[in-house]
Amino acid sequence: MTQVVDAVRTLSVSLDERSYPIHIGPGLLGESRWLTPYLAGRQVMIVTNETVAPLYLERLKAGLSGELEVRELVLPDGEQYKSLEQVSRIWDALLEAGFNRRCTLIALGGGVIGDMVGYAAACYQRGVAFIQVPTTLLAQVDSSVGGKTGVNHPRGKNMIGAFWQPKAVLIDTATLATLPPRELSAGLAEVIKYGLIRDVAFLGWLEDKMAALRALDDEALVVAIERSCRLKAEIVAEDETEQGVRALLNLGHTFGHAIEAHQGYGNWLHGEAVGAGMAMAAELSRALGWLNEGDVARVQAIIESAGLPLEVPDNMNAEDFLSRMRLDKKNIDTRLRLVLLKSVGDACVFDATPSAMLHALLEDFPR
Ligand code: NAD
Ligand code: MG
Repeated sequence: MTQVVDAVRTLSVSLDERSYPIHIGPGLLGESRWLTPYLAGRQVMIVTNETVAPLYLERLKAGLSGELEVRELVLPDGEQYKSLEQVSRIWDALLEAGFNRRCTLIALGGGVIGDMVGYAAACYQRGVAFIQVPTTLLAQVDSSVGGKTGVNHPRGKNMIGAFWQPKAVLIDTATLATLPPRELSAGLAEVIKYGLIRDVAFLGWLEDKMAALRALDDEALVVAIERSCRLKAEIVAEDETEQGVRALLNLGHTFGHAIEAHQGYGNWLHGEAVGAGMAMAAELSRALGWLNEGDVARVQAIIESAGLPLEVPDNMNAEDFLSRMRLDKKNIDTRLRLVLLKSVGDACVFDATPSAMLHALLEDFPR
């Protein structure tokens, strides 16, 4: 169900008593009515980072009205700070402030901040309220929806975490104005993914609107974010803890993770690696006879139009890919599980890819 109030669209993520709304619109940050109703009590801790704080912290605070005790904590910026050490700083600040179980944490920033603050909220006094205010496109369409929270461990990304749902997600599309274009493209990879795995009509709409999206047209952004959140929310509602259909959200990700890890995190953005990974998944789907050449060209065209790479790094051979792909969390036993396309707009999990076919793809894919 979608409701429209002014220019703001609201959809709801249905998870029984843990259901929550996602509000999407330009300029909603700073308007009290989108924030205040979701506070559990008077104690509020805003957590953000050094990049986002100077841009949006004051605007967010302007939207907090009433007799509140508001604290803020500004963490360093970067995936390398998505650590238990930084989460501990959040707990320290909460305890120093004497915050109780009715406090509310607000995550203002990209996926790194959202994942850490969600995890801090999941554990503080066995669980307190939190609100997501995602400010990257990736966080708006992906990481802020679904309740996965956590941090990295020196031995692996996202290895420590919990499922913990926010009380609300507030998406102000105007915050994307300051986002570096490369980060915008990385977020578009996940948007395209939703179309490819289960909404061919949305994919067609994206083909029309890609230029408007990259030019930050508010109307187009609101529609794209809403549809993406809705598709993710539907999948999450069907499969909250990833026993089945949620795996489809990993289209392009097994290949993509191999690229990210091999290149060193941060050199290729996650969304860039997923872009190339989706092109690889399309090619393998063609080799299996599911897609035709026109389908593959269509997939490539939309990835390229978002400003994402279609080629994989030339310093990676097939064995480099395979050794990384075997470590994927999604594998069962020793078989590689890949998300592939039955057709454009319809994905499936496949764990019987002939190894010669996979090897040929990895060897011959454009560098
Ligand atoms: P990020 O949080 O590192 O943000 C990217 C960069 O943009 C950072 O430098 C950040 O400070 C900056 N930034 C944020 N908002 C800005 C704005 N409005 N203007 C200018 N700069 C801004 O990265 P991300 O891509 O948002 O998120 C990636 C993280 O999300 C990863 O840690 C990943 O594991 C996680 N993730 C989680 C889920 C989930 O389901 N929980 C899903 C996908 C990704
Ligand atoms: Mg992803």
